[in-house]
Amino acid sequence: MIHKPTYLPLYDVAVIGGGPAGMIAAGRAAECGARVILVEKNKTLGVKLLLTGGGRCNFTNAELDTRSFLLKLKKDGKFLFSPFSRFGVKETIDFFHMHDMPTKIEDELRAFPKSDDAISVLNVLIRYMNNGNVTIMKKTYVSEIISRDEKIISIKTSDGKEIHARNFIFATGGKSHPETGSTGDGFLWLENLGHEIIPPSAALVPIVIKDSWIKNLQGISLQNVKLTVLQNGAKQNSQKGKLLFTHFGISGPLVLNMSREVGECLKNGPTELSLDVFPTIDGGALDKKIHELLTKAGNKKVKNIFEGLIPNALALTIFQLSKINADTNANTITREERLRFVKMLKNMPIQVSKLLSADKAIVTSGGVILPEIDFKTMRSRKIQNCFLVGDLLNIDRPSGGYSLQICWTTGYIAGESAGKVNS
Ligand SMILES: Cc1cc2nc3c(=O)[nH]c(=O)nc-3n(C[C@H](O)[C@H](O)[C@H](O)COP(=O)(O)OP(=O)(O)OC[C@H]3O[C@@H](n4cnc5c(N)ncnc54)[C@H](O)[C@@H]3O)c2cc1C
Repeated sequence: MIHKPTYLPLYDVAVIGGGPAGMIAAGRAAECGARVILVEKNKTLGVKLLLTGGGRCNFTNAELDTRSFLLKLKKDGKFLFSPFSRFGVKETIDFFHMHDMPTKIEDELRAFPKSDDAISVLNVLIRYMNNGNVTIMKKTYVSEIISRDEKIISIKTSDGKEIHARNFIFATGGKSHPETGSTGDGFLWLENLGHEIIPPSAALVPIVIKDSWIKNLQGISLQNVKLTVLQNGAKQNSQKGKLLFTHFGISGPLVLNMSREVGECLKNGPTELSLDVFPTIDGGALDKKIHELLTKAGNKKVKNIFEGLIPNALALTIFQLSKINADTNANTITREERLRFVKMLKNMPIQVSKLLSADKAIVTSGGVILPEIDFKTMRSRKIQNCFLVGDLLNIDRPSGGYSLQICWTTGYIAGESAGKVNS
């Protein structure tokens, strides 16, 4: 069916995408006095935002020193000094406080709403947009971008509306979890408009494991462990952090942050991981501790004595891997058995099968290459009246609140630049 376009009034700013980056951009543009419209294809706003941080929303990383924060973005960090100097981590936390959302900081400076509920973050953004009278069109799919002479004239929606604006903010996200609406539409439009796009691939993604014992550990999380990536026995990389066992393999911040490297190794052949459950103690000290525990336990069965030290299911798996009968009495464990157990705690081998597919990634790498954006304003250097924000940008970032902080910073600055009268 061919729709006859309905012409809506001219807006100062039209934002495509009602995720975190689009919502803060719309709110800020309106706060600057602009008439703003936001178009979202889902029937609700912030669908992916509500999934973040396991539903608790790790909305930033409370590293207040901009230089240290941006160092985590490796070579991409240098592009972001300008927007972060105007709306960085401190300003973001202040923003949420000013909008009545108390916050708290957990391990590794991960910041969450005090409510432990991502809906608190979404509610702040919706209130922010409502305060500025942003027109919000939900269930509206942008199907076409009309441009002329390196300028966007209007956007067309699948229900036949045509939206004209002076400036356009693209906030359509990346390609991970497409069921949330992030299907990569922005990448196609921007490529057609002359931007160079690095093809999206999984960047922060869980790892599928070959070992069958993995399913016995589902749901167990280990706080401060060390994971080493090995190829042909040679160490490639090693990091410490939190690891989570799942029904298919391993996830959690430590694993997500190492997944890119594991992906690279897999391209070259079989890849193995080694897990150190006690990275802060050397093998000798750990052996002493285990020896003391065994001695104290007397004739108790070994399967019942490690609960205070490691989760029971993990102890059982380690007994199995080190060929110790878990029903043996503690006082009959031989020195060799004990040393095998300690060795396994310090160096538990894990066989990598593959990375989970890109659509299950927390973020995809790829997107618009950074030199094509003016980071003082977030304006495209290819299209005069187009501003680019959030997961659309090719920014390398670890897990821990960094992705959302990039959304707040780029969205706020784009909203301010696009929303200025006469911009
Ligand atoms: C499971 C999971 C957990 C995560 N946890 C965290 C975390 O704790 N901390 C953190 O910092 N980051 C986290 N992230 C990453 C974070 O969610 C993203 O970085 C963030 O959502 C990107 O925001 P965005 O606004 O750029 O895009 P998105 O949130 O992807 O929003 C884009 C919006 O655009 C809409 N859209 C797309 N195409 C069209 C179209 N053609 N017409 C109309 N609308 C369209 C989509 O429907 C969508 O609503 C997590 C991601 C996942 C998947």
